[in-house]
Amino acid sequence: MFTDLMEYGDTEENAYVLDRIKISQNEILVVPFTMKGVAVDLHYCEDEGVKGYVVCNGSQCLLCRVGNKKDGRLLLPVFLPVTECIGVLPISTSMQPHSLMPQLKAMISKTSDDKPAVVSIVTATKGKYIVNANEYADDSITGDRQIKNFMKEYEAGKVDLTSVFTKLSNEDISRLNVVSKIMKIKGIKLGAY
Ligand SMILES: [Zn+2]
Repeated sequence: MFTDLMEYGDTEENAYVLDRIKISQNEILVVPFTMKGVAVDLHYCEDEGVKGYVVCNGSQCLLCRVGNKKDGRLLLPVFLPVTECIGVLPISTSMQPHSLMPQLKAMISKTSDDKPAVVSIVTATKGKYIVNANEYADDSITGDRQIKNFMKEYEAGKVDLTSVFTKLSNEDISRLNVVSKIMKIKGIKLGAY
């Protein structure tokens, strides 16, 4: 049986390989093109097998039940001119002056009327961001084609921005070392509320 390489991986669920943007002390370049984001609750999981953010399972979430703090994030799709693909920028909902949300909002409203601007983002220290808008010196990589294709799928509800984070069922979560210990100590049973 042959597999047609042109069709391979082109299913509706993974029509997009989205990059999760990790902001560090190195400058990253993004081009915002929409204000339509997706809200998500995340848990930071220290467990060896996970070591990262896991999507909250909602009202019956086991991580919530064992007391793992959940944090709200707004996921915003942006164009990444360096890799020329669409990335997902997780933005904390904090409106503190040095946090990302207010600075990004100001930047987007300032630049949206003109041609798209390249925004550079760096963290100075934990939770404090430096955000600058730059004009394209060479506008051959503005991502028009990628953005247009993405928006068509995004507006049709075919793109899941939360797919850049790990998703675990409550059963999988109950097998994590720390979680299973807390469940034992506190007598928390899977599925019993
Ligand atoms: Zn949760």
